[in-house]
Amino acid sequence: MKTVQVNIVTPDGPVYEADVEMVSVRAESGELGILAGHVPMVAPLKIGAVRLKHSGSTELVAVSGGFVEVRPEKVTILAQAAETSAKVDVDRAKSAKQRAEEHLNHPNESDVRRAELALKRALNRLNVAGK
Ligand code: ATP
Repeated sequence: MKTVQVNIVTPDGPVYEADVEMVSVRAESGELGILAGHVPMVAPLKIGAVRLKHSGSTELVAVSGGFVEVRPEKVTILAQAAETSAKVDVDRAKSAKQRAEEHLNHPNESDVRRAELALKRALNRLNVAGK
């Protein structure tokens, strides 16, 4: 099967680079499955898991929003933060989840939108880490 080159890049540097058979991302407009030869496009991403399929296995990378740029031979994901499943610090994500839930339980004392986003990031990281 033809492969497409995927790069996931953050302000701290590259997080992932590989040739894969298919990459799936959570775009704002919905789930997007990208194969080699896809028409060029740019789309904003939600907080979610990027799924990378190759040689019969699927790898997950947690991304905290950003953009995907698709070209026929190359997919670039620019994210504010991204972690492969092996790089997720599970204890840190659990603490972040707990903090966000506490803020949401006391909505007058905090910025609800910020806590909701922090909770989404934490749940996404735990999901990608299989927790
Ligand atoms: P926290 O409150 O734990 O900092 P956060 O969601 O506010 O979580 P971000 O602002 O999204 O953190 O990320 C800041 C940096 O820390 C990024 O480089 C991101 O990759 C890294 N990071 C955040 N949480 C984790 C985690 N659970 N495991 C590994 N890296 C993490």
